[in-house]
Amino acid sequence: MKRIGVLTSGGDSPGMNAAVRAVVRKAIYHNLEIYGIYHGYQGLIDGEIKKLELGSVGDIIHRGGTMLYSARCPEFKTEEGQLKGIEQLKKHGIEGLVVIGGDGSYRGAKALTERGFPCVGVPGTIDNDIPGTEFTIGFDTALNTVIDAIDKIRDTATSHERTYIIEVMGRDAGDIALWAGLAGGAETILIPEDKSNMDDIVSRLKRGHERGKKHSIIIVAEGVGSGVDFARKIEEMTSFETRVTVLGHTQRGGSPTASDRVLASRLGALAVELLIENKGGRAVGIVQNRLVNYDIIEALAQPHTLDMKMYQLSQELSI
Ligand code: ADP
Repeated sequence: MKRIGVLTSGGDSPGMNAAVRAVVRKAIYHNLEIYGIYHGYQGLIDGEIKKLELGSVGDIIHRGGTMLYSARCPEFKTEEGQLKGIEQLKKHGIEGLVVIGGDGSYRGAKALTERGFPCVGVPGTIDNDIPGTEFTIGFDTALNTVIDAIDKIRDTATSHERTYIIEVMGRDAGDIALWAGLAGGAETILIPEDKSNMDDIVSRLKRGHERGKKHSIIIVAEGVGSGVDFARKIEEMTSFETRVTVLGHTQRGGSPTASDRVLASRLGALAVELLIENKGGRAVGIVQNRLVNYDIIEALAQPHTLDMKMYQLSQELSI
């Protein structure tokens, strides 16, 4: 391969820039030409493609977001959209593509691979929900954002003796809620993988109250339901004053942590190595601190699994 491309797609995550930087520098290190595709698959269809140099990725390792921009592109789910994308890649002489994004973006990479165009997926999402890797780029930064919020809310919760609900991202995966809840010492963690009922939640709160607890922090992953609805129900079922904070898109931003920058650098570089070896149709990841690569099509067929032992631990530590 002489010329490869890189794009970022779907929900952005802190560390995507560090991954783009790694792809660009690793490619140039190995004498490849590297092209940036702007605005994800939409930009691919529209031909927003520019050659990148070493200096194009200077001063971005510490920045959140993505210098290549991101987009959602429904047209890319169609055969017509995918063929237009391949046409653009061929027009620019690009022979392989690194796709940095979440599981939706992986489906796009899988579609290109199935049409004969080699792609490698790099897991860039705060949700930590990509099968085959223990961690995704951006998860650690998002966790630290949530923990910072929990610590601050804990201060005010203590002063006012209230119950606080913090709603975090995670439509289908409870990783952010679980890890942040464990690290932040939350009393209750509500995750999509284990739908607790209101009676459980209220009896936990009451048990704590009887033990003399004056305040309580509940972390709700958005996939379980709205924090506002939970607060209303808690107030209906108890006498506890309850407040809600929805962290929303603050979780997507910010300067990536050291851990995310290192992960992004390692995974971005590995993706280029695979393309150099002509290994398309792969996804890269990390398992027990070792870099791995695996078939992107098989990976997408697997469910994401949450560490249920850790969930159990979170419950044991917050009795
Ligand atoms: P994420 O990558 O963060 O999960 P999305 O689910 O929005 O974000 O997916 C990002 C983009 O990937 C979509 O807008 C679309 O262009 C592309 N994509 C998603 N699913 C498919 C699919 N089944 N086939 C082809 N492209 C897809």
